Amino acid sequence: MLITHARLATLGAAPRLIDDGALLIKGDRIAALGTASELAAHYPEAERWNAAGQLVLPAAICAHTHFYGAFARGMAVPGEPATNFPQILERLWWRLDKALTLEDVRYSALVCLVDAVRHGTSTLIDHHASPNAIDGSLDVIAEAARQAGIRACLCYEVTDRDGPRRTQAGISENIRFAQSKIQNYHPARPSGQAREQSEGPESKIACSFGLHASLTLSDETLSDCLAAAKDLGLGFHIHVAEDQADQEDSLRKSGKRVIHRLADAGILGPRTIAAHCVHVSEGEIEQLAATGTWVTHQPRSNMNNAVGVAPVEAMLRAGVNVGLGNDGFSNQMFAEMKAAYLVHKLARHDPRAMPGDLVMQLAYADNARLAQVFWPDLRLGELSEGAAADLVFLDYQPTTPLTAGNLPWHLLFGLEASAITATVCAGRVLMRDRRLLTLDDEAIAARSRELAALAWQRI
Ligand SMILES: [Zn+2]
Repeated sequence: MLITHARLATLGAAPRLIDDGALLIKGDRIAALGTASELAAHYPEAERWNAAGQLVLPAAICAHTHFYGAFARGMAVPGEPATNFPQILERLWWRLDKALTLEDVRYSALVCLVDAVRHGTSTLIDHHASPNAIDGSLDVIAEAARQAGIRACLCYEVTDRDGPRRTQAGISENIRFAQSKIQNYHPARPSGQAREQSEGPESKIACSFGLHASLTLSDETLSDCLAAAKDLGLGFHIHVAEDQADQEDSLRKSGKRVIHRLADAGILGPRTIAAHCVHVSEGEIEQLAATGTWVTHQPRSNMNNAVGVAPVEAMLRAGVNVGLGNDGFSNQMFAEMKAAYLVHKLARHDPRAMPGDLVMQLAYADNARLAQVFWPDLRLGELSEGAAADLVFLDYQPTTPLTAGNLPWHLLFGLEASAITATVCAGRVLMRDRRLLTLDDEAIAARSRELAALAWQRI
């Protein structure tokens, strides 16, 4: 397919803005890009899609999310309002997740996937919990992601909070799901990594090993998880120091701060995601950098839970890998970028904090590097030959000059989610002219409303 008459914002190492550009998609990759007249002359036979001057960007990536949280929208939480983060966990999230059935898990995921397609987010790294519907839950989410046509990395968050039987069930679910992926190994590739063949729908689903957080995990469970994940060649996906309570618990349990406890337990490394890291010391930041561990930043969630502002710029200066997630907030990554842009300035009383180009780097270049942990052969977050054909179309008429250099500030101050008209993932068109092509959003919303009402009754 040849997309013509698009304004291409390539991003990548040498970002360009190509006015009246064109982009050739072959299979799941970008085969060529240039001006519309050049490519139309080169590929006269290709099926055309006239973008009519729309801005085309690489699709967004979300580094940390929770599909299972969708039913929380508008839910009345029983009892007094939570006054701190542990109470938010106990009164909201640990009640909601226990109420979920496998069908709820499916619809909760589908609702989030509709939102992702609508908002041009093609790749999501999910962290799942449903303590009364653990077995097979990752398959159910994978099916929903396949139906949507979205790329997703899945895991089940192991925790000791619901007793040893569920701890074991969580471990088994990670193992079972990872093994089902490993059966699709390409024999020519190095063993010990949950890689998949680059063709076919399977290649869009990847896996990690989920852990809830240090504060709900014993040393024994961490060591069981390490043994299992090592066997499978997986890294971990865990919440880290989201609130001071995680540090206090870790010091009580082990005499060590969370990062040091997790490092000693073998949990950190270049395939591990430590979500949040709001409360980390200088020494912990050094250890994150030394181990190559990924940190993900979720400013909307941090503000909502009033847990603090992660020292993102200090971590980046120290050489820590940092990506941008949404922690189950809407899959409008533009909104998360705007929150990141604003909150650091306010917290530090410094308008120079977290400049627009740095936000852009986190959301695209850094998130794309993180995605390569799970899809090693894929180049996301840029429009270039050989990169993934993951695109978003925006109906955007800039009212001031738009250049490759000032794009971040157009994105932060001009572009709204309502401008998004089309989403492409791995060469497949998931939404065109604002119409979803893979998911029946009305039917999904209707069933989700029924299921959510029943889940609320169980809470
Ligand atoms: Zn989270």
